[in-house]
Amino acid sequence: MSCPNNQSSYLRELAAKKKDFMAYESTEVMTWCSGCGDYGIQKALERALVLEGIKPHETLLCFDIGCNGNGADKINGYTLHGLHGRVVSVAAGACLANPKIKVIAEGGDGGTFSEGINHLVHSVRSNYPMVFILHNNENYGLTIGQASALTRKGQAMNGTPDGVVLQPMNTCQFVLGLNPTFVARGFSSDVKHMTEIIRAGLRHKGFAFIEIMQLCPTFNKVTSAKWFWDRVRYTDQQKNYDPTNLKRAREASEDLEKEIMLGVLYQDKSRPSFPELFESRKGITTSLSEEVRPYSIKELIKNLK
Ligand code: SF4
Repeated sequence: MSCPNNQSSYLRELAAKKKDFMAYESTEVMTWCSGCGDYGIQKALERALVLEGIKPHETLLCFDIGCNGNGADKINGYTLHGLHGRVVSVAAGACLANPKIKVIAEGGDGGTFSEGINHLVHSVRSNYPMVFILHNNENYGLTIGQASALTRKGQAMNGTPDGVVLQPMNTCQFVLGLNPTFVARGFSSDVKHMTEIIRAGLRHKGFAFIEIMQLCPTFNKVTSAKWFWDRVRYTDQQKNYDPTNLKRAREASEDLEKEIMLGVLYQDKSRPSFPELFESRKGITTSLSEEVRPYSIKELIKNLK
């Protein structure tokens, strides 16, 4: 944990930006359950945006279907609430069309690692310039607690009352196998730490994959806040942790039971993002969205028989 001096300078930094935080405030009533980790994630995202100097009109926030998606109208700004599992592809299209805005996508473990896993694979591979925040609450919470691909083995859920029979996927291990450029992990009760890794993701030039281990006290009774606090470890407290070392990142992210490593696990700053690969776009300062013009179809219709 951070020392008290760091903590007070952090709080002073936040207090000085009160007006900027107000710009992100929504008047909508929060609908998440009491104790839900989504509150902390939303707060960390707001803090990261403000501390990076990003105004609401300079970002597009894309939400998937699921409990995370209920945050779409609880933050002021341009938001998009799309189809289940498809948020990464929609956000990828947005960041290619207009690289002048910061595009952030959020999705749950159900939509991302089942319905939409193909979109995640190609977004990591393509290194689209965007941030993706995975809300990993280890179940489909919005549809009242069914098992996802990330639910732990043996856990009884609605739909699998005798317990899940398969091992869960390890998301960071999976993404690290896709030749990524940024992989990080946070915990929904540690807002300060989440803020820092989201800030690092916002500064990254390519696809930033950020997994948040999220509390779901309503349907996930197994991995409680205490369960996580007893197990979380931080990369910046490990001796000589080197986030450019892929092998080290694989080792650090492997354990999901005894010691769960949080922090920026891996980063490669050298790789170009997808739009930078196109020779035909070199030197062009306009975005694709600015190049789109309205065309009259009157002439076309006139010639139709
Ligand atoms: Fe949060 Fe779980 Fe409630 Fe959904 S069901 S709002 S994830 S606590």
